This record gives sequence, structure tokens and C-alpha cells, in this order.
Amino acid sequence: MLSENQKQRYLRNTILPEIGEKGQEKLLCAKVLVIGCGGLGSPVLFYLAAAGVGNIGAIDDDVVELSNLQRQVIHNEKNLGQKKVLSAKEKILTLNPGVNLQIFDQRANRESLRKIYADYDFILDATDNFPSRFIINEIAHEQKKPLIFAAVKGFLGQVSVFKSYEKNNPCYACFNHNIVDENFSLPLSEKGILGSVAGTIGALQATTTIREILEIGESLVGKILIFDFLKNEFRKVNLKKNPSCKICAS
Ligand SMILES: [Zn+2]
Repeated sequence: MLSENQKQRYLRNTILPEIGEKGQEKLLCAKVLVIGCGGLGSPVLFYLAAAGVGNIGAIDDDVVELSNLQRQVIHNEKNLGQKKVLSAKEKILTLNPGVNLQIFDQRANRESLRKIYADYDFILDATDNFPSRFIINEIAHEQKKPLIFAAVKGFLGQVSVFKSYEKNNPCYACFNHNIVDENFSLPLSEKGILGSVAGTIGALQATTTIREILEIGESLVGKILIFDFLKNEFRKVNLKKNPSCKICAS
């Protein structure tokens, strides 16, 4: 049952027939882990908290730097030099004090993720580097957790959902051998990114997560959305399981 305060706060959610009060209760019970409090993590954390996703974990071991503020809008000048998870926590709880927020000031390595994943039902990859993405994917497959993936570079963005532990679904490692990731293979130091592109893709990652929690609409499992904001192009590409994938092939 929603409290009076929750009925008011989430009114624009609950009047949507696809959500209703039952859907809102589902969101309030959901446990979502967001890995990365940067360009993608900023909009993801804001929109999940605003929507009433009740239990959120946030992982990051970085501190806020001036060059982050062009896109990482959960942080501001007052947070320079502060741990990103602490800065993010302050903003999230100011927006919605009803969120049960856990922060993890640590690197996403196999050992830490194995422990932290156990408490969450959905894993969101909001990182910006390949080593982390592969580890996040590997442990999500191992622990049978849905992985909501997003990536940005320049004016390009990608969003997908991986449930590689089910049926014949691919994982991120399968997909990364496909040509669709070609544009994302530059090392991080060579990447530029427009903040509003990260904002748009992060908002899509949050919406995709909410849709997965509510089990409404069409899932992105086995598909990837690819956005090119310079060309105004948007494509949906089917992904296949790689039968020789080191992570998910049986
Ligand atoms: Zn795979």
C-alpha cells in the first residue's frame, strides 16, 4: 500500500495505466545496482530515485574533478575533490529521501562485485571503460542477474539488456565481437563526449530499467539500440549469442 505522501509524489507514474499503484509498489520494492556515478550514472541515479525505485546501490571510487562537470550533472563545483558516491548520495537523498541508498566507495573488481551483486536484482553498467564492462558482464552472467548496459562516445550511444543465463540470449562479451561495437573501441583517453548525449543515453538506460522492473512493453534482450546524434539516426540491431563466447557459451 502506498502512503499518502507516496500517492502524491508518484501521481504522474500511477495515473499511467501501464504502471498504476501496483507498478509503483513494484518500483518501490526493486533493488537496482548502478556501477558508475559519472556521465551515465548521473541521469540514471536521478531518474531512478525520482521514479521511486526503492533500493539503489551506487559504486564508484573516483573523486569529482572540474572536467567532470561538463556531463556529470549530479556533481557541482562544491563537490570538487569529494568522493563521487558521497556527492551523489547528497543529491539523491535531497531529491527523494525515501530511497534506501547504499554507496560503495570501491573499484568494480570481481571480488567486490560478487559480494555486492547478491543484494540486487538489476545491474546497471554505467561505466566508461572496457575492463570494467567485461567484469560487470561476467559476474552478472555468473549470478544470473539482468544487466542493463549503456555506453556513449562522442555523439554516439548504445543501450541494451543482457540476460545471458536464459535460453539463447547473448551476453556483452558475445556482442563485443560484433561490428556494432567498432565505434567504441578507442581507449578512454582518446574519447570525447558531449554531456547531453550522456544525459540522453542515461535517461534511456533508466527508462529501460524501469520497463524491465515493471515487465511492460518490449524488452531489449537480444537487441541493441544504437543512436547517432549527428546523423539523427537510431537503429535497433539484433544480437546473436556467440557459440564460442568465453563467458556464456555452455
Ligand atoms: Zn557471451
